[in-house]
Amino acid sequence: MLRDRSSSGFRSSGTASAIVRDVEPRLTVDLHTHSRFAIGCSRNLNLRTMAEAARTKGIDVLTTGDFTHPAWFAELEAGLSEVADGVYAGPSGGRFVLGAEVACIWRSGGRGRRVHILLVAPGLEAARRLNMQLEAVGRLESNGRPILGVSAEQVCRLAWDSDDRFVIIPAHVWTPWYGMYGSKSGFDSIDECFGAAAPSINAVETGLSSDPAMNWRITDLDGRSIVSFSDAHSPEKLGRELTVLRAAATFSSIRAALLFGQIAETVEFFPEHGKYHLDGHTKCGVRLSPEASATAGGRCHKCGHPLTLGVLHRNQTLADRDEVSLRVMDGLVHGAPERPPYRRLVPLAEIVAWGLDAGAGSVQARKLCSALADEFGNELDVLVNISIHDLERVAGERIAQGIKAMREGRVEIDPGYDGTYGTVTPVLN
Ligand SMILES: [Zn+2]
Ligand SMILES: [Zn+2]
Repeated sequence: MLRDRSSSGFRSSGTASAIVRDVEPRLTVDLHTHSRFAIGCSRNLNLRTMAEAARTKGIDVLTTGDFTHPAWFAELEAGLSEVADGVYAGPSGGRFVLGAEVACIWRSGGRGRRVHILLVAPGLEAARRLNMQLEAVGRLESNGRPILGVSAEQVCRLAWDSDDRFVIIPAHVWTPWYGMYGSKSGFDSIDECFGAAAPSINAVETGLSSDPAMNWRITDLDGRSIVSFSDAHSPEKLGRELTVLRAAATFSSIRAALLFGQIAETVEFFPEHGKYHLDGHTKCGVRLSPEASATAGGRCHKCGHPLTLGVLHRNQTLADRDEVSLRVMDGLVHGAPERPPYRRLVPLAEIVAWGLDAGAGSVQARKLCSALADEFGNELDVLVNISIHDLERVAGERIAQGIKAMREGRVEIDPGYDGTYGTVTPVLN
């Protein structure tokens, strides 16, 4: 049974004054995570390390990731205890909702389609019911992010037949291979991808290589929430992108916020930092703007291989509205009046590594990151809220000034392409 999108636009807060906004609840969530049962993910991802990372990063509620995987689901059933409607405490704390990512692979319009979709479940029972349905359409034990031989529309039907409160969010919508709008196997609209289920797709995940302003240019996304999560493959990467909801820590409140666009802000990468921003061919070190790759006929000029057309290229192809002019206030980027503002951050580990001239995974950098999180509460506060003067005391002048530069947008950018991450480094005055 498909639900109607309850209202075509977002419910505005009407007469909400600044005072009302100040007391509105803020819930920082990361709803795209994985467990160690997903291919390519750290062996070290378990409920304990995830809860610890959430505390360090400043995340209030995480998804469990991978609830479709039988071994991980057994761990979830054994380790989670419900503390509020659909929200669970882990064995060592933390707050979780049940979440998973599935890869739908099917044929449509004469082409093979591959689309990653996030499923957020109302609770363990609903997740269990859906798992029983999905066993018939995919090998759930083979990967925490299972391949399902069904369309995006069919997976919605299976989820809503299990529980009509399931929240369904197309994942990293612009990425070339598995994004709903991706250049390799994606679609030009939510209607085309989701068919009759499209009116109930109320939120999309932007992915690291695009930011909200790019998405504001797409009328297909009007009236739908634009959200950002980490897609972390290790505890260290949790929360690298985040969404701050105007919600309480219950499933129904989180769901309502996603459905009705009750979002205080999103926390983003600089889009060039992501690994699919521009076009190119990594093997040959060829990186091109969308204009240059069009001139090159979509082929690598060194080897003739088709170029991977990145997120910016697809975004410019589908954009049916001019760029919105942006203004930055207190580190928040504002643009479209009906849209929440957002921040562009560089992960603390990367700024610290830059400041120390060491690797982001080095012992030295890790130690200083945890000292900063311990001293000031969490990494998000360090990046956003703590005064530069206070940061200097613990991190030294160079790193404190680096954080200041990032907050003010003074960065040097080397854009990512074809699976190679970009770099974003602070520029000191
Ligand atoms: Zn994915
Ligand atoms: Zn090449």
